[in-house]
Amino acid sequence: NTWSLSPAPESTSHIRIDKKYDLFIDGKFTPPQSKKYFKTINPATEEVLAEIADANEKDVDRAVKAARKAYTNVWSKMEPKERAKYIFRIARLLQERAREFAVIESMDGGKPIRESRDFDVPTAAAHFFYHAGWADKLEYAFPAKKPKSIGVVGQIIPWNFPLLMASWKIAPALAAGNTVVLKPAETTSLTALKLAELIRDSGIPDGVVNIITGAGETGKALVEHPDIDKIAFTGSTAVGKMIQRSLAGTNKKLTLELGGKAANIIFEDAALDQAVEGIINGIFFNQGHVCCAGSRVFVQESVVDAVTRRLEHRMNSLIIGDPLDKNTDIGAINSKGQLETVNKYLELGQKEGFEMFQAGNEPPKKGFWCKPTLFKNVAQSSIISKEEIFGPVLVMQTFRTIDEVIDKANNTPYGLSAGVWTDKGSKIFNLTSRLKAGVVWANTFNKFDPTSPFGGYKESGFGREGGIQGLSAYLKFD
Ligand code: NAD
Repeated sequence: NTWSLSPAPESTSHIRIDKKYDLFIDGKFTPPQSKKYFKTINPATEEVLAEIADANEKDVDRAVKAARKAYTNVWSKMEPKERAKYIFRIARLLQERAREFAVIESMDGGKPIRESRDFDVPTAAAHFFYHAGWADKLEYAFPAKKPKSIGVVGQIIPWNFPLLMASWKIAPALAAGNTVVLKPAETTSLTALKLAELIRDSGIPDGVVNIITGAGETGKALVEHPDIDKIAFTGSTAVGKMIQRSLAGTNKKLTLELGGKAANIIFEDAALDQAVEGIINGIFFNQGHVCCAGSRVFVQESVVDAVTRRLEHRMNSLIIGDPLDKNTDIGAINSKGQLETVNKYLELGQKEGFEMFQAGNEPPKKGFWCKPTLFKNVAQSSIISKEEIFGPVLVMQTFRTIDEVIDKANNTPYGLSAGVWTDKGSKIFNLTSRLKAGVVWANTFNKFDPTSPFGGYKESGFGREGGIQGLSAYLKFD
């Protein structure tokens, strides 16, 4: 009704989304060789937002050639402090256009505007600022190691944090003196293409950054191109393994940031209200489309009733709906395909016999939605506690002792992140050294900063992004 007290949804009237987007190669937007385009839709409304160019092998080759030419003739010869200026300029332009990027990210990907406005876009800008700072200080960062750029880097990213993942990839690569060809995921190409416009506006030399769009075949062509020196991939473990196999025997460098099934561990001495907020943030942030999502919660037996009660109460207050509404907590599932995957796991969890609790208001009729879901008292051997669901689905298990919970938490092929909630510092130190996870958060969850390296063990991949470790993945030291 017209007397609603909610703030008005974010206006889209000043946001420019073109009908058609070409490939960004050698500083210009250029049509794909095949003349084929695919549609990108708004997952909250199912409306077509734009048509996106589908790059084939020949387009990939054009992009790699442009990146090679720019590397050899311009970027690798440029004074590092000059390169830094361009990266700073990109960061500042991103801050200036923050609202536009946040709105488009929410329209194309379905995430709540509060998240794209307060997390995705500012964190992306922070990554460019941070890495601009390193560009002319590489010899101080790696004393006596003679850091050198690698050359042309192919970068492939997923759909869950489109702008942020592009920034995590492009900023360190440029700071280290490389040129790039980046491919965004096919359901969320828009902010990468907007970033291409912004990068062009920064005045950076043509060919230093190339953005090509398309699905898996385009990514495969990039991976297999003979003139690529390094591949940086973020996405599923299945595709990561395929890439690893296809690069075996080549001299290309590789970093992989893959899936996860993180444990969020709640001890009886934790501040329970805060821990419940940490559980909610851990799994429902970005509809659970988060590689490091706290998708397995382990609660100490003595507080399981208290935690479950508080958690269900808090889940009931979550608002599902229009991603552009500033009150929305749970936006749309990114695509029809991903909704089908999540629904398959919901059915499976019930078939496996676990009690399911779903909360929140009724979602809109159109679009792709999933209510926040909790499976209680789940067995360690179940499929829903083992496989990555990549949706707003939390699996709860219990434990009695520290050793038991460490065993359970580590009993997964993944090793990306974990969370620990306790009042005792000694417990935190005990767990952080024994949990097999690249990141362990204590009394918080999903905290990111450009200065902190992020990445996994085991089937969650190898290599780090962020911090000096992430920077070193874009350098060679021979
Ligand atoms: P995906 O592997 O299906 O796709 C990722 C990217 O790879 C897309 O751009 C896709 O077009 C491309 N691709 C697909 N097949 C390819 C092939 N054969 N060769 C080259 N490229 C190919 O993954 P997704 O569904 O887009 O993303 C979700 C996954 O990403 C989840 O498993 C999630 O955990 C993971 N992820 C990991 C991190 C991390 O930092 N570890 C961050 C975000 C997402």
